[in-house]
Amino acid sequence: MERVDNMAIDVKSQLVHLSVLQELDLRLHKLIEKIDAVPNQKAEILSEVNIVKDEMVALTAEKEANEKEKRDIEAVVADATEHLKTFESKLYSIKTNKEYQAALKEISEIKKSNREKDDRDLQLMELIDAATQKLTQLSTDLADKESQVAESVAKLTAEAAQWEAERQACEAELKAAEAHVAPQIMAVYRKVRSRYVDALAHVEAGICGGCRMKITPQLHIEIQRANTVCQCPSCHRVLCPVEKTAEPA
Ligand SMILES: [Zn+2]
Repeated sequence: MERVDNMAIDVKSQLVHLSVLQELDLRLHKLIEKIDAVPNQKAEILSEVNIVKDEMVALTAEKEANEKEKRDIEAVVADATEHLKTFESKLYSIKTNKEYQAALKEISEIKKSNREKDDRDLQLMELIDAATQKLTQLSTDLADKESQVAESVAKLTAEAAQWEAERQACEAELKAAEAHVAPQIMAVYRKVRSRYVDALAHVEAGICGGCRMKITPQLHIEIQRANTVCQCPSCHRVLCPVEKTAEPA
């Protein structure tokens, strides 16, 4: 624990300045958090469009595969039908009953196979029609989504610009506030600030407002006297006996 003993410094007023400084520091911290989150927020908003686009791509691929299968089946059925015609026209020229029976069996098999292919063809047609309807719906959804997303991104961009302006103003105020704090106290504050956003803690009911550890009566007296800058023995936050002015982080 560091101690800043300097009778030339009015510790009480320094702590008040430090309180003001911390308030600005916390405000700045929150603004930076919001600004830093903007790219991810934008990506998240834009991903809503990509979800619809991905669905359309997958559905289009599925539809194209079905269309190809349908074309292939139709070609096979056309060939088989052609073959069947030739085959049937040759039935007259068959001499033996055995050959005739074999030919009839083959004809029956070709017809059965064609029927099965026709069923699949019909099924594919239904799938393709359903996909076409769904794709029309999705492109409407996509247009809606794109306009919503554009609106959300524009809103966020405007907010981000506002936060950026606030951040710059806050940084200037913080710099001005720092000028009121003695360098050795500023050094202590910065060191603690590198670990905690709220480097200045208020002592309430004998407890450090930062880490909730109990403060010894001896230290409590020192804090009240304010002859020196006191730090919590546990978390090292600068302890402040004055009225709470900073918002909790
Ligand atoms: Zn503490």
